[in-house]
Amino acid sequence: MTEYKAVPQLSAEEQKLMDRAQVDRTFLTDKELKKQVTAIRNTIKNEEIRLRKEYPWLKHQNAISLVFFLGSVVSMIAIAYLYLQRILHWSLAVPLLAIPGSILHELEHDIIHNLYFKSKKWVQHLMFCVIWAVKLSIPPWVRKVLHLRHHIYSGQKEDAEERLIGTGLPFFYMRWLIQMDTFLTVLLLKDVEHDNKDVIKKEKLILVSSPTVIPFSVTLHLFWNYLRLLNGWTFTAYDPALYLPLSMWPYVRDVAILMVLPNMLRQCCLNMIASYCHYYGDIPENSVFYQNQILDHWLLWPIQLFCFNFGATHIIHHYIPNQPFYLRQMLAQKTLEVMVQNGVRKNDLAVIFRDNRYYDKDDSRRGKTLDELTAGDNLSNSSDSDDGDH
Ligand SMILES: [Zn+2]
Ligand SMILES: [Zn+2]
Repeated sequence: MTEYKAVPQLSAEEQKLMDRAQVDRTFLTDKELKKQVTAIRNTIKNEEIRLRKEYPWLKHQNAISLVFFLGSVVSMIAIAYLYLQRILHWSLAVPLLAIPGSILHELEHDIIHNLYFKSKKWVQHLMFCVIWAVKLSIPPWVRKVLHLRHHIYSGQKEDAEERLIGTGLPFFYMRWLIQMDTFLTVLLLKDVEHDNKDVIKKEKLILVSSPTVIPFSVTLHLFWNYLRLLNGWTFTAYDPALYLPLSMWPYVRDVAILMVLPNMLRQCCLNMIASYCHYYGDIPENSVFYQNQILDHWLLWPIQLFCFNFGATHIIHHYIPNQPFYLRQMLAQKTLEVMVQNGVRKNDLAVIFRDNRYYDKDDSRRGKTLDELTAGDNLSNSSDSDDGDH
């Protein structure tokens, strides 16, 4: 159980095959990638063994989840109290609330994978209820169906969870709007339902999400309209904002600052990072190697802060899904090193302009090295990649 596993090294020949595939913009088969995937999986497992030996308290998984859960809820209540007492400014309250919100999101995800309280389902459901009320998003029980499907179909049209946050959509303002406002996801539902008829019924999804998503959206739009009214940004005498009773403004403002804006900030950061750390649209089915990239550029730190470093660690979860989120963070450093050594892409920011595709659709860029492709320059091909055919 605690035996360290062998981590195979790529031979020069295998390394060349990897490089060649990138140049030719082709995908290696599962058989050709077996060594890389084994090296990555075994490194993750070895790191877990090492950490569990070093920190025996890691075995108390249920207790740790409870500490994170109660700690997040209590800190949110404390921040809300300080804001309502006017001790904490709203500009600090919003980001401070988003951080424990991101921990609750991770806990929700781990419960989906049945990592805590396996024999006490009622605790899982209780945590789900609280998390649903705090996140004001789709019900965790529904997310469970979509998320487990994501692990089976990542990068394919059946990957409803990723598509509903805009993954694969063209680089266009609509993609950014959908990532900011949960309610706009409704615009994608018809297309996603078409490819996922067995799990998605548009009307049913809207109905079960309405207890949280509707109050979220109504409060958000009331808040913007009050802001317009208070700043005199109204249009004609028929502007609906002019009919808002001013006595309600303090309530709308406080609910927006405590419930809606922190979730918007958190969701926006998470959706942006999640949608760009996944590849979509051209990758082979069931090939874990091509499903993700590592996003850990320092420029992304402010975004990662509100999604628990998702961009740098989600890829680990695709290889080994049954590890709690804090353990994933603890074993990330060594694992990411081995991933890069084995050809996993890191900080491929050009994915934004490729609409999540692994390779560019533009054939004129065929024959460039990976660095040249991601940098988007037009340097001529090196002699190394000119000779031979694929
Ligand atoms: Zn994923
Ligand atoms: Zn998962």
